[in-house]
Order: sequence, then structure tokens, then C-alpha cells
Amino acid sequence: MRILVTGGAGFIGSHLCERLLGEGNEVLCLDNFFTGRRENIFHLLDNPRFELLRHDVTEPILLEVDQIYNLACPASPVHYQYNPVKTVKTSVMGAINMLGLAKRVRARILQASTSEVYGDPLVHPQTEDYWGNVNPIGLRSCYDEGKRLAETLMTDYHRQNNVDIRIARIFNTYGPRMLEDDGRVVSNFIVQALRGEPLTLYGEGEQTRSFCYVSDLIEGLMRLMNTDELHEPVNLGNPGEFTIKQLAEEVMAICGKNSGFEYLPLPADDPRQRRPDITRAQNLLLWNPTIPLREGLVKTVDDFRKRLNEPQV
Ligand code: NAD
Ligand code: UDP
Repeated sequence: MRILVTGGAGFIGSHLCERLLGEGNEVLCLDNFFTGRRENIFHLLDNPRFELLRHDVTEPILLEVDQIYNLACPASPVHYQYNPVKTVKTSVMGAINMLGLAKRVRARILQASTSEVYGDPLVHPQTEDYWGNVNPIGLRSCYDEGKRLAETLMTDYHRQNNVDIRIARIFNTYGPRMLEDDGRVVSNFIVQALRGEPLTLYGEGEQTRSFCYVSDLIEGLMRLMNTDELHEPVNLGNPGEFTIKQLAEEVMAICGKNSGFEYLPLPADDPRQRRPDITRAQNLLLWNPTIPLREGLVKTVDDFRKRLNEPQV
């Protein structure tokens, strides 16, 4: 198949391009390089079935493809809040442009949505039928509401134009190739621990998240894309739930450093708890995450050690 991956030079996108090529597909990787890096896909550039397009999803494009994974959008609060209006445009115009393309060439399209559609959830763990608790005018709204509208657009293009859609509600995902200055918690803690700096805990570090290793997520995304007649959102994440302080302690233990904590103010609207209910993915995709947090962190720390030129242990 010919498969378009928007945001293909980013963290998740580059792992997805690699897997899709490995399974014999032709891959068109589209990216504007806002948070994506050439280094992420450098090893794919020589593959004759791989093509790189520098393009912004807020602009229309016409390509002949069978499937579209629409991943283009900065995912870290630091980056999506840098230019919030652009973030909204990327989610909304990006979804419209990619859905228009899918409609025109009759491609199946998967939207990378997010657990952020649940906001600061009042239902725990989060099931797909929960509508969420999202502030429409806060600092995170450009991302959360942008993704919610992308889901709306996907569903309306399906109802109105019969576009073959898939919606993945992705929970916190981590792994090799996250940017050193990405700003998300796993990469921040690993870089800080390896450098012997205190780990920055926002608030008391009692808020929880559930962390999914990237290879597990890619498996879930591909199963979702290739399951027929599944137009409802599907949660993809690892249900193991940890406080941010527990994560910090785990990272320090793996890095063999004890550089302590620096307590910083909790950002506005920071969700207090988050854990996916993955019953739907288990039943419909026969999917389960396989990599526990410690194992995934060891692999991720190894990758950061290499990139930061820290000695391997
Ligand atoms: P990332 O920032 O590494 O990747 C995003 C990619 O999109 C980058 O390569 C960036 O350059 C590109 N991009 C951004 N705006 C663009 C635009 N206007 N046109 C073209 N390309 C653009 O982030 P990621 O973690 O790989 O996230 C990928 C997708 O998964 C995003 O849609 C994100 O919202 C979603 N997601 C990620 C997580 C996570 O924990 N990593 C959780 C939920 C949802
Ligand atoms: N966080 C933290 N220290 C950091 C970065 C993040 O304590 O250096 C916290 C943040 O406040 C949030 C959690 O870790 O409660 C996850 O943050 P991230 O930005 O990775 O993802 P999101 O909030 O979007 O789930």
C-alpha cells in the first residue's frame, strides 16, 4: 500500500514510518519540521519505498494514497503553547485538508487524537464514552479543543461523506527519539537525571499518568487502521498508572543518579489523574501493551545516553 504519514518526522511518526516500511509498504512522510527532525528519519532516506515531503498540513495537498495517518501536530505543552493559534490551525485545517484528500482519493484515514480530549477527567479510568472535562479558554485549550474538533470533523466526514475514518485516543507515550528539549515529563526527567541535575516536579508530583512504550502504541495504531468498520474512538495507552514522583524515582534509579527534586508550580489546568480503560482496544483490536514502564524506561535511557554522549552502563 501507499501510506501517507503526516508528522512522520516526529517522535511517534518516525517509528510508524519505520514499521510501515518494514512491512513492505510505500511511505510518504509529510512534515513541516516544527518539532520533527531529519535525524529521526535519516536512516530511512535511502529506502526506495520512502519519500519525504516538506509540507504544512494547514495547506491542501493532492497525493495518491491508500491510507493516511494524520499525526501532524506538536504534542508537548511547551511546543503547542508556543504558537497556540497555529496549533489550532494545524489540528483543524490539517484535519479538513487530510479528510478532503481521503474523500477525494478514497483513502482510509486515522486521526491521532489524545487523552487530552478528556481534560481533567471526572471519570476514572477514562472510557471512550466519557465526554470529558475540558476548559475551552485555558492554556491547554488550543491542543485539547483542536483535537476535539478534529474528532468532530472526522465523524462528520464519515456521516456526511462516508469517509472511512479511525480515531485513536493516544495516552502519554514515550520512547527513543523524544527530543532532549521536548518538555514532556519522561524526556525532561531522563535528561536531568543523566546530567546530575535535580528533577523538576510540577506541584507535589502527586498527579498521575499512564505511560505507553512507543512500539506498543505503533502496534495499536496499525491494528486500529487495519480493522474494518471501526469508526468510533479507541483509547490506546498502557493502563499502568504512576504518580509523577514515582516516575521520577524510577528514572533516577535506572540512571544510577540521585540528584534530588526541584519543586516548581503546577501548570494551569494540569490534569490530576489519567489512566485509559482499554477494554475496547482489547476486545476489538486484540491489543494489549506488552512493555512495562521499567523496561521501556531502560530502552529510552539507553537512547538518551547515546545522544547525550553519556557513558553506557
Ligand atoms: P512530535 O512533536 O514529535 O511530532 C509531531 C510532528 O508533527 C512533528 O514532526 C512536527 O514537525 C509535525 N508537525 C507539526 N505541525 C505540523 C504542520 N502544521 N504540518 C506538518 N507537520 C507538522 O509529537 P509526537 O509525540 O510524535 O505526536 C504525534 C501525534 O500523536 C500528535 O498528533 C500528537 O497530538 C499525538 N499524541 C501524542 C501523544 C504522546 O504522548 N506522544 C499523546 C497523545 C497524542
Ligand atoms: N511534569 C513535571 N515535570 C516536568 C514535566 C512535566 O512534573 O519537567 C508533569 C506535568 O505537570 C504533568 C505530567 O508531568 O502533570 C505529564 O506532563 P507532560 O507534559 O509529559 O504530559 P501531559 O501533561 O500532556 O500529560
